[in-house]
Amino acid sequence: MLHPDIGSTLDGLAAHVRVRSCQVMAAAGRFAPSPTGPLHLGNLRTALLAWCFARSRQAPFLVRVEDLDPQRSRPEHEAGQLADLAAVGIDWDAPPWRQSERRDRHREAFERLRAQGLVYRCWCTRAEVREAAQAPHAALDAYPGTCRRLSAGERAACERAGRAAAWRLDAGAVRASFEDALAGESSAVVDDFVVWRGEPDDPAGVPAYNLAVVVDDADVGVGEVVRGDDLLATTPRQVQLARLLGLEVPRHVHVPLVLDVEGRRLSKRAGAVTLAERLARGEAVEEVVGWLAASAGLAAPGTSLTAREVLAAFDPAQIDREPAILDPARRLAELEAGRGR
Ligand SMILES: [Zn+2]
Repeated sequence: MLHPDIGSTLDGLAAHVRVRSCQVMAAAGRFAPSPTGPLHLGNLRTALLAWCFARSRQAPFLVRVEDLDPQRSRPEHEAGQLADLAAVGIDWDAPPWRQSERRDRHREAFERLRAQGLVYRCWCTRAEVREAAQAPHAALDAYPGTCRRLSAGERAACERAGRAAAWRLDAGAVRASFEDALAGESSAVVDDFVVWRGEPDDPAGVPAYNLAVVVDDADVGVGEVVRGDDLLATTPRQVQLARLLGLEVPRHVHVPLVLDVEGRRLSKRAGAVTLAERLARGEAVEEVVGWLAASAGLAAPGTSLTAREVLAAFDPAQIDREPAILDPARRLAELEAGRGR
């Protein structure tokens, strides 16, 4: 499903996007799932919204596989996710590509930060970071900068001990703000977050999520990031990183999530949450897409729709700002009632 010669594909794509951008000012939109399990209806809804945002502007739409976690990423999940996106009617303008294949570009960005003296090694374990970040309102497990303040001697001792290290951004406690298209003005003090786990010249080292996302979006001309609002809190980090790297900051649109009946993030325990599970229950794809649209405030409940039909009527102003609740039992009853009519 992925293109074998990803380098030239991305060059071609970047050129394509640039040409399109000049012509119609259409910066690409994207969906970027992690291949760690099947997509659930919440993921599919976010993908549908991201696609509608891009397509309603006649902009290119891209899919990126965020497989930086080698332990949890699986090719079968990647294939299943792409198949599900296609099945609900979402299309894209370049072959999907894997984040793990772009290490050279991530490394280049890291070296640019290092050359500016903007990164430092951190030897803290997760538990140590948690313990140190005891400020009552510390969001995001904000890192308190412990290793930034180590003396040269302490640093040398850590290096000699050979403990696993990560590289953090020396963010300088700057406040980064941005205007979210749905959530409005948003800002936070950026902590010294991790930009690289392990060492960049060690194949076992891995670029951190925030670095990879910022570089990958900028590289292919993604100008609009539509994603779940659970990521809103991490966006100031990415905004600041883009600025430090001299990259364009994309427009952000954080959309509400789909929750289970207990108000938790959707997961397997909520019941039938994947496309395959919905279809196995006798639901048609158009009924699933109709639910996705209706749950976001974009269609009347109980409507059967194709993605194209959702797009044709798409009005961002109608997007429900509250999270949607997926109640599989109620959904089943609704479907049965609908069919009985
Ligand atoms: Zn540390």
